[in-house]
Amino acid sequence: MKVPPTLSTVLGNLFKKPATNPFPVSEPVPVPEGFRGKLVYDVDKCVGCRLCVMVCPAGVIEYVPEVRKVTFWLGRCVFCQQCVDVCPVNALRMSDEFLLATTDKYDDNLRWLKEDEVEELKRKLEEQKKAKEAAKKAAEKKE
Ligand code: SF4
Ligand code: SF4
Repeated sequence: MKVPPTLSTVLGNLFKKPATNPFPVSEPVPVPEGFRGKLVYDVDKCVGCRLCVMVCPAGVIEYVPEVRKVTFWLGRCVFCQQCVDVCPVNALRMSDEFLLATTDKYDDNLRWLKEDEVEELKRKLEEQKKAKEAAKKAAEKKE
């Protein structure tokens, strides 16, 4: 008797290894080159031009004028990479990280430049300003 083609395929597959990736027992499938994962912000490179704020379609980025930097809440990010492409100083890049599930929508992992970091930057800028003023006064006294 001739075996129908579907049945022969099923019988053949019964003796093959599963073609699944049993994550999290195994590592996830590797991401391809150019994958758009979690956005990474290099605060030191940022010049505060606000171009990223203007192009972001999801309202992820907020400008902080006191420190001339930006903050991100990635809970809204749609991974479009427009901010990365527009940044003139390469302060932004998309990483390979994609396991971003959390029970807290304001999870620290979803934020760049948190409140305490903004305060720290403000403090540093204030110190720099004071040091400049003191140096200027000292120079004036000498004259
Ligand atoms: S990747 Fe897109 S959505 Fe995410 S912060 Fe950048 S511009 Fe906004
Ligand atoms: S585009 Fe780049 S340099 Fe300009 S504010 Fe955004 S991160 Fe900073």
